[in-house]
Amino acid sequence: MAGIYVHIPFCKSKCSYCDFASFPDKLCYAESYMACVYREMAKRKDELKDYTFETLYIGGGTPSVIDERYIAMLVAAAKKNFKLADDAEITIEMNPGTVSAGKIATYKKCGINRFSVGLQTAVDKQLADIGRIHTLNEFVYCAKLLKGENFSADVMFGLKGQTAEDVVNTIKTAAAFGASHISAYALTPEDGTPIYTDYLNGELPDGDEAAAMYNAGVEALKTLGFERYEVSNFCKKGKESRHNLNYWERGEYIGFGVSASSHINNVRFTNTFDLDEYFKCICSDNFAVINSEAIDAEGQEEEYIMLRLRTAKGLDTEKFKSLYGADFKEKYSAQLKKLTPYLECTEQAVKIKDEFLFVQNSIIVEFFN
Ligand code: SF4
Repeated sequence: MAGIYVHIPFCKSKCSYCDFASFPDKLCYAESYMACVYREMAKRKDELKDYTFETLYIGGGTPSVIDERYIAMLVAAAKKNFKLADDAEITIEMNPGTVSAGKIATYKKCGINRFSVGLQTAVDKQLADIGRIHTLNEFVYCAKLLKGENFSADVMFGLKGQTAEDVVNTIKTAAAFGASHISAYALTPEDGTPIYTDYLNGELPDGDEAAAMYNAGVEALKTLGFERYEVSNFCKKGKESRHNLNYWERGEYIGFGVSASSHINNVRFTNTFDLDEYFKCICSDNFAVINSEAIDAEGQEEEYIMLRLRTAKGLDTEKFKSLYGADFKEKYSAQLKKLTPYLECTEQAVKIKDEFLFVQNSIIVEFFN
């Protein structure tokens, strides 16, 4: 399977935890930027003519901050340059502080059929603390506009002053207003972001407190009928994000725009994070790739193990054999023995036990020591 990702790097203002390629003071360049993205797509047209793309994901940044006509033109450009499956999943990320009935009507009209809304927390003070531009009421307004649509809500835990009860209430709010998919991510204080100071000052919840919030969230989600299909992703039956499932299958994808990464034909490559550089490259009829790495056979196998063990279904040993020609349980018998308390092994699958998924990184790393 293959997907398309497009990065829209504009936001109204910068959240205090954000280290994505997003430029709050550059919205005036949106039109030129989108023209470059359409051009970049056209340049990849021939190279990707044999692919049928099953997903298109418009992420950011805040795609909903730019004029909705650019989004409609973007979907049209994707359809014009590439073969998009008839039932393709087309997702747009939205910030509740930037939506309107008109925007959502345009999105639906141009074929967008999945919406990913950044709620983060239902506590207004916490939203303000992390620099989000919206309130809980604006989320509710947005959710009402999306009534009956396939929509996901992002929830964060580990915020300053947040309790497990706050996380549970946020999840209940998202579910009550119709979210059929919830992504629950731990706040990661990256060096260089304003929130890193709070982290250094010991003002953020510690690892145990964050784990307690996550566990409380997982329980609430279960009670509300959401199934976990990846460590941070939960959904009602059949509402998995096909775009993300492809990442965890080590599938192929092509990225367009600043900072977008791609994985085509066992080569991983990434575009520049610098907006001016992106303009310069595309306008001079070049690509904007800053690094590219061919993944060798060993690397492909490692990636597959790492990605599959993040998922609730785990690693399918038959599929592993068909891909890499080896018996997973035999090849990794020493690791499987050492990690026995953390793993669940059935005839055809190896997965991390539910209760240890939150700390999957420290378990997965053992496979490569
Ligand atoms: S809305 Fe998202 S991309 Fe924009 S600044 Fe906030 S976290 Fe970063």
